[in-house]
Amino acid sequence: MRDRILAAGERITPQRDLIAGVLETAPRPLSASGLYEAVARLDPRIGRATVFRTVAALERAGIVEQLSLPGERSGYLLCATVGHHHHLVCQRCGKVSDLPEETVGPFFATIESDHGFSVDHASFSVYGTCAGCSARLV
Ligand SMILES: [Zn+2]
Ligand SMILES: [Zn+2]
Repeated sequence: MRDRILAAGERITPQRDLIAGVLETAPRPLSASGLYEAVARLDPRIGRATVFRTVAALERAGIVEQLSLPGERSGYLLCATVGHHHHLVCQRCGKVSDLPEETVGPFFATIESDHGFSVDHASFSVYGTCAGCSARLV
């Protein structure tokens, strides 16, 4: 985690280290208050404002992402994938998986060839039911 922070040209502070670690190990994206509660359990000295300021700095640095989740919520997540990618969001359990750029690359190529539209940037989430939840439904 420290190398990700350094690679983004950011300073490592104990708060950044702790908050990035919490997000890295969380099984699901955390809301702002969920993140604060998880941090407070590890280090009660870190205040709410510090948590919010730190996660905002990590988001600006491209280390943490904020994703809109089912139910008009949003959550912070720290992905294993470094660099630009997309997400699969399970609407049942809230699990988020990375969808690599290679998977969606052909889709963008189709947009460019069919519409003559040159894609500069796209970021999207696909909502549905994950394999684990699907297996439990049968
Ligand atoms: Zn991701
Ligand atoms: Zn699921």
